[in-house]
Amino acid sequence: MSEDVKLKSSVGVIGAGIQGISISLCLIKKGFNVTLFDHDDPGKESASYGNAGHFSPYASVPMNRFDILMDVPSMLLSSTGPIALKWNYVPKMIPWFLKFIRNCSKKKMMHTAKYMHQILDLALPAYDELFEGIDMSGLVESKGIIYFWTNKDLKSRELEINIRNELGVKQQLLTPHEIHDLEPYINKIYHGGVLYPSARHARNPRKILIKLFDLFIKKGGHFVKQNVQTISFKSDNLPLIKTDSNSHTFDKAVVACGAFSKKLTDQVGEKIPLDTERGYHVHFKGHDHLLSRPVIFLNKGFGITPMEEGLRVVGTVEFGGLDNPVSRKRILNLVNNAKYLFPELAEHHDEWLGFRPTLPDFLPVIGPSKNYKNLFYSFGHHHLGWTLGAISGKIVARMIAGENTNLNLTPYNSTRFS
Ligand SMILES: Cc1cc2nc3c(=O)[nH]c(=O)nc-3n(C[C@H](O)[C@H](O)[C@H](O)COP(=O)(O)OP(=O)(O)OC[C@H]3O[C@@H](n4cnc5c(N)ncnc54)[C@H](O)[C@@H]3O)c2cc1C
Repeated sequence: MSEDVKLKSSVGVIGAGIQGISISLCLIKKGFNVTLFDHDDPGKESASYGNAGHFSPYASVPMNRFDILMDVPSMLLSSTGPIALKWNYVPKMIPWFLKFIRNCSKKKMMHTAKYMHQILDLALPAYDELFEGIDMSGLVESKGIIYFWTNKDLKSRELEINIRNELGVKQQLLTPHEIHDLEPYINKIYHGGVLYPSARHARNPRKILIKLFDLFIKKGGHFVKQNVQTISFKSDNLPLIKTDSNSHTFDKAVVACGAFSKKLTDQVGEKIPLDTERGYHVHFKGHDHLLSRPVIFLNKGFGITPMEEGLRVVGTVEFGGLDNPVSRKRILNLVNNAKYLFPELAEHHDEWLGFRPTLPDFLPVIGPSKNYKNLFYSFGHHHLGWTLGAISGKIVARMIAGENTNLNLTPYNSTRFS
């Protein structure tokens, strides 16, 4: 594509989470005329604000695993376990769950691991590129992430470690003594752990989103703070984005609305089985000095990240859709779990519920729409959407510019659900 054509091409990007902002910034760097839509201010309440802030290039082993599947019923029955269900949502969730079960064979799990690894491996270099020209001092730390566990209920640890070894992921097994040396303030309840030294963490995901957004605006990007109601196509196949008060025509459009993307993809005749794994966080303000890096306590399925806002305690996979209210029990659970690791913690703040966008095979959808060549998707990055922001942005921008990515992108195509 010539520079001339690029300069004339306009792209409408829907959703100003990490996906939409990264895509918009990559596109504007290529010379496109970009308009970003969101009904909220960037980084206000989205998943891209409230996540655990891990940049996790090692995390290619998916949740669609037979051993995890076997544990799901007992986890669901425990009110303090890592998984929960809103019972009124069960009928809606059944088709998703059946597809999830079909994706739990060893072959399907390895397929997901391989193609998550393909993009995870490029995730940090893509961020280094995206952050060029932005003062990120104090906002990203490179101290790795520790997972630890007790001897109870942990049959699946070995499988994960073996697959990561096969994929060439750097990992360092830790004795209890070594965990204590690295993180001396944690209650010594653990029997073993592993350090992923390549991982980084965000000290403030919202500030990072705003820095990326500000650069996009500085480079000439437009932002429309309105809810997108519909996408339709004119006779020349150009996308028409209709908000609550206006209509906008573009040469290309991108849906990057995280867990909310399905409302738009259903309109363009695709039945993509996107649903959400709800997750929560609370903050313990002024206690971030208790940790040097994020930790995850595997038996209880939650993590704590030291951030500017304090210790951010994050966890729970709750199946319950986008409209159910916050579960008080899940918040209480996180608070109690945090106090088990740090008995000195007192009052918590900022109870937050967010929506991981998840497909039943635990691969994202990145690529063109099945029915409209001028429409592109980037959503469904589940537990890893923060990590995968910059690389997805780079891939989508290259696709729209008609450039080669040198990657096998077929596994991320929405047509896999047709
Ligand atoms: C508890 C929790 C912890 C997590 N921890 C991590 C982690 O440590 N590391 C990691 O890599 N990932 C993590 N994730 C996952 C990650 O946060 C998400 O995958 C990622 O933020 C999704 O980004 P997104 O841009 O696709 O969607 P979102 O961040 O949800 O953004 C979508 C945007 O679209 C907007 N929107 C939706 N519909 C419309 C519409 N019709 N019109 C206009 N705007 C619209 C929304 O307002 C929103 O701003 C976590 C998620 C949760 C919930």
